[in-house]
Amino acid sequence: MSIERVRRHIDEHREEALDMLKDLVRQPSVSAQDKGVKECAQVLADLLRRLGIAAEILPTATQPIVFGEIVRDAAAYTLLCYGHYDVQPPEPLDLWQTPPFEPAVRDGRLYGRGTGDNKGQLIAHVLAAHAWLEAAGGPPINLKFVFEGEEESGSPSLAGFIRGQKSRLAADLVYISDGGLHPSGAPTISLGNRGILGLTLVARGADRDNHSGNKGGVAPNPVWMLVHLLSSMVDPTGRVLIEGFYDHVRPIGATEQRLLATMDYDPKAFAATMGLETLPMDGPTYWTRIMLEPYCNINGFLSGYVGPGSKTIIPSTAECRLDIRLVVDQTTADILTKVRRHVAKVDPRVQVLARGFGTMEASRTAPEHPAVGVIADAIRRCRGVAPAIDLASGGSLPNAVWPSVLGVDHIGVPYANADENNHSPNENLSLDRFYDGIHVSAEVFRALGDAAARGALPRRAAR
Ligand SMILES: [Zn+2]
Repeated sequence: MSIERVRRHIDEHREEALDMLKDLVRQPSVSAQDKGVKECAQVLADLLRRLGIAAEILPTATQPIVFGEIVRDAAAYTLLCYGHYDVQPPEPLDLWQTPPFEPAVRDGRLYGRGTGDNKGQLIAHVLAAHAWLEAAGGPPINLKFVFEGEEESGSPSLAGFIRGQKSRLAADLVYISDGGLHPSGAPTISLGNRGILGLTLVARGADRDNHSGNKGGVAPNPVWMLVHLLSSMVDPTGRVLIEGFYDHVRPIGATEQRLLATMDYDPKAFAATMGLETLPMDGPTYWTRIMLEPYCNINGFLSGYVGPGSKTIIPSTAECRLDIRLVVDQTTADILTKVRRHVAKVDPRVQVLARGFGTMEASRTAPEHPAVGVIADAIRRCRGVAPAIDLASGGSLPNAVWPSVLGVDHIGVPYANADENNHSPNENLSLDRFYDGIHVSAEVFRALGDAAARGALPRRAAR
């Protein structure tokens, strides 16, 4: 059977695979500092070509995208693998045991900036494709690779790039490997993420601080303005009171209910990771709140005087920062309009400033999507355990571009060890996880090919 030959090829070429990852890690590619990114695109494109994959470097307004493909029959099922070859800044350098761009193996791990996030994970797909080419004449599905060079800087050009290259990127599913496994080492399938809308509310009173005795009751107090406004926005249980806020929130379906009930939960242990004694809720409530419900958070409040002694003033300004976490089908534009309308009604003196940076849309693939079960089976065959299904991460990621711009669902399967130290000194990728990742990709390609041949997978609309 071809998968046996593919597996053997992967096992017999571990050293070469590791050397290729080292070459990639050796080339710095820090998008935040524009250091070596374009050179890294070149290294990566050359690597793809050496592995028999047609590759091009496609420019964007900012950093280039490395695009590769293996397409034998344009009508066949097509998987688009997305990853990013840029890395976080390596600083502080003195905390690294070995230099960040000099890959080094210690205790079964490869150390270096970008080993886990995301170079080791993206080339796992490439190496799996190569194994299929060498051992079986080619993968059982079409493969497209989109590797961007500025994910760590908020992917400013990705949506525009996809919009401009829609026919070239046409695919049936987007597959993403980023982040780590569960700390137990158990595999996970990740179906989406919450969005985020960052806002600043500014209230102004007089043009200077005033004496709170001499002017108290006469001069307006901007702190009270914000306190009243905020309490009109969210009730004490956390329910958002802004009109229409929940209009587009998707009801929780039967499959989601079932998955929520099986999710790992330990109120004491989970509370400890947050610095709390315990959590006063059950598992399904905990996971529903994090994955499937929006939340309006106050992350900063600045006004008046809280230094030593006292200063009896009516402050002249008050400022409050919010991050509103949104769920799939809520959009940042719609929620921003609703917040502005609410503020205009309750206290038009308060200014609403939207912070563009860091704003991201929510996105979530339904757990009933047939590819979820197919990929879960593939992972089980490789790793010997069924993966946990993560309906969505509470945090925000740029996944929404796939359904909203390309019109394709996305499924994530992280390959790195949980303690990969991504974004931190001594980033590393366990060699076992790296080789497992290549096997998982190879098996996923096969499983999708089989399922597509049975007509068991949804296909993109006719081109
Ligand atoms: Zn990262």
